[in-house]
Amino acid sequence: MANDFIYAQPVKIFFGEGSFDRLDAVLDELKVRRAVLVCGRHFAAEASLLQKKIPQICAVFSDVEPNPQLSGAAEAAALARKHEADAVIGVGGGSAMDTAKFAAAIVPGDAPAEAYFRGEKPLPSQALTIVCVPTTAGTGSEVTQVSVISHGTEKRTMNHPSFMPKAAVVDPLLTLTVSPYTTMITGLDAMAHALEGCWSKNHQPITDLLAAEAVRLILENLSAAYRDGSDRSARAALSYASLLGGLSFAMPKTAGCHACSYPLSENWHLPHGEACAFTLDSFVRINADKRLEELCRRAGLSGTDELAERIRAFKQEAGLKTRLSDLGEVDIPALAKAAAVHPLMKNNPVPMDEAALREMFEALR
Ligand SMILES: [Zn+2]
Repeated sequence: MANDFIYAQPVKIFFGEGSFDRLDAVLDELKVRRAVLVCGRHFAAEASLLQKKIPQICAVFSDVEPNPQLSGAAEAAALARKHEADAVIGVGGGSAMDTAKFAAAIVPGDAPAEAYFRGEKPLPSQALTIVCVPTTAGTGSEVTQVSVISHGTEKRTMNHPSFMPKAAVVDPLLTLTVSPYTTMITGLDAMAHALEGCWSKNHQPITDLLAAEAVRLILENLSAAYRDGSDRSARAALSYASLLGGLSFAMPKTAGCHACSYPLSENWHLPHGEACAFTLDSFVRINADKRLEELCRRAGLSGTDELAERIRAFKQEAGLKTRLSDLGEVDIPALAKAAAVHPLMKNNPVPMDEAALREMFEALR
């Protein structure tokens, strides 16, 4: 029997090849009248075509950069105010979706964006309607209430119900053009979401099941999509796995591996997925317990050792960084300290203090 738990999932999910072509119907269903579309520059041309096709899209903000800045979210919010929009659509990877979420949350407020970013002002009680459309298979941001925004060099992971999308449109066809490197690191990010949701202290039986299926699908399909980006069946499996990974950690939250990813990204500019992959197999070994063994069994593996080996093999296949010496000059005590104080470290099932993290990083020297 499962222990007591609470589970809720408020996002309406539209999944399938070609689902993005029906965005107008999704907007109709949500009774959206005027929406701002938020995306990166690579999507700017398609976004203006969409604006011509879909009457509800009243403006496009296509200036989202990787590691999105607060200034971008503030600009998108200003555009939404100017056009009296009632919705924001984020199309892209985590950066575009997180910018859309933050912008939608602050539009009804009257304080500067920085006051909400710093937590000096509470977010307005009602956000604009948020619709998320992932174009990579990794972040799971389309089904979480997390928004990761930077202001200068300060990067904040904010967690608030106002950031929760109303709808997610997950169309695997949008991921066909993702490069092999990004395919690998976003796939490993999705794997990290599933595993961390499972071993998080706040895990629960439903998210454990979702996590196991996400891991199984990633193990089966990640190399295929890495080698041949046009493999539609592998792409669809990874889009689904990324969605399941997002659902796996949306309530339990991530833990040690994501806590370590922040100093790794901030100091050595590792992209989020590669930074998570860097310690993922180490944490599989550290957090190995009965529940993780059960996940491995459900995912078709012999156990946690095989899972750690498979993660290592993915990293080697794509030539990802696996040792601290690959990063350059690393002050291990400082890195261990930064990871130890990250709030997500508290969710790790095995307590990881500075000394334990130093030992882990020493082994990755
Ligand atoms: Zn992540």
